[in-house]
Amino acid sequence: MTKQEVLGTIDEKGPLFCELSDAIWEQPETAFQEDYAAGLLCQPLEEQGFAVTRGLAGIATAFCGRYGSGKPVIGILGEFDALSGLSQKADVTQKEALHPGAPGHGCGHNLLGAGALAAAVAIKEYLSHHPGEGTVIYFGCPGEEGGSGKAFMARDGVFDELDCALTWHPGINNGIMSCEMLANCQVLYRFDGISSHAGSAPHMGRSALDAVELMNIGVQFLREHMISQARIHYAITDTGGYSPNVVQGHAEVLYLIRAPKNDQVAQLKERVDRIAQGAALMTDTKMTSDFIKACSNTVINETLERVLLEQLEALPTPNHTPEEVALAAGYNATVPGEAQLDDDRRRRMTREQVAQFQKQKDDPIYTFKDVYLPREPQSGSTDVGDVSWVCPTAQIKTATWASRTPGHSWQVVAQGKSETAHKGMLYAGKVLAATALELFAHPEILDKAWEEHRANLEGQPYVCPIPQGVVPRQLNPGKK
Ligand SMILES: [Zn+2]
Ligand SMILES: [Zn+2]
Repeated sequence: MTKQEVLGTIDEKGPLFCELSDAIWEQPETAFQEDYAAGLLCQPLEEQGFAVTRGLAGIATAFCGRYGSGKPVIGILGEFDALSGLSQKADVTQKEALHPGAPGHGCGHNLLGAGALAAAVAIKEYLSHHPGEGTVIYFGCPGEEGGSGKAFMARDGVFDELDCALTWHPGINNGIMSCEMLANCQVLYRFDGISSHAGSAPHMGRSALDAVELMNIGVQFLREHMISQARIHYAITDTGGYSPNVVQGHAEVLYLIRAPKNDQVAQLKERVDRIAQGAALMTDTKMTSDFIKACSNTVINETLERVLLEQLEALPTPNHTPEEVALAAGYNATVPGEAQLDDDRRRRMTREQVAQFQKQKDDPIYTFKDVYLPREPQSGSTDVGDVSWVCPTAQIKTATWASRTPGHSWQVVAQGKSETAHKGMLYAGKVLAATALELFAHPEILDKAWEEHRANLEGQPYVCPIPQGVVPRQLNPGKK
């Protein structure tokens, strides 16, 4: 079976993958609540002859579908969770909630899950004609947003048998996602004080809210004395109530700590822990901390990225109708400012490459391919990081949205069922499938990828940054 024929199956079955993506968009579910989406994605896997396992690493909405036999074993990672509070009507260029307060697919994971499935199904088609050439496993990975589902799965050894993992993310441009994303962890700090009448008996009270405030001030001073790539964010999740005339007896604050490497996050967390202890000491309250989740930094594998790049370069990006371009221009008009090249990218690009970007930067939909710049530092995080510690892992991005679309926005949700989104999704599926075929034909590339992987890890084994005993959970289950 030729590569062309294999990729043709993605066009043939295109409507099925688009329907799946749209259906997941219609019923957005947040971290670890994705029963509908997981069920929906398992169905075609079973129909296509994959051996499906539902429930992995103790997470009901994690699953995998396996097809083929022998090595190499290629993992395709899919996501399908939504973001809270981002409900938005489809195909309108103004902010308008579909169901006010409900979640929405603000990161395009409806496309991510279905596009990765398209790749897995095309790879299966190839393997059904070439038995014994290898195995493909589609991983349904829940709770990427704020849950680090893949880190829990990696802690349980779910990815251990893989020779490599491939995935993609919807976006505004087409290229390799060679992003060195940060490791992170989330910890909830709870303070317990003593309530009393704030007017008549303030001396009897010990304020938990004071402790939260003092902790935040302490961390504010810490920020000056940490490495510049580190980030510390927080949300006050309990202020103690609505009564200023009561000394607040309980309060809590959720911290998100990021740094380039796992051990740097762990060290920073210890300092934040001590600040929390200090705040408790100052206010005569009791502090307890609750480790919520963590994810690892992303280990880049250039060997694997170059195979993806070859396939991306060989496959033309989708064409768009004048109507699609006009609609994209409508979305772009809702974003202030203008398209700009990231400073780090600009520094690493040639003058000609910069000039070329300047020429195309105002296109409503980007159809060009991004210049490949390996190992771009990025201040975000992803749980793909944990998979990238376990085996060589690489990711692409494709243009599924108008070129000025901000991440995690109503504009992402509004474009989630558009033709542009569908086209970008199927294009991603094709690049991933073509890459897998290349690896089946030249398994020696994977030997090189592993050599690089071991060198990148500098002899460190993967140790999941989530301690044993911490279980995946949604922090705010009451709010959909
Ligand atoms: Zn996201
Ligand atoms: Zn995402």
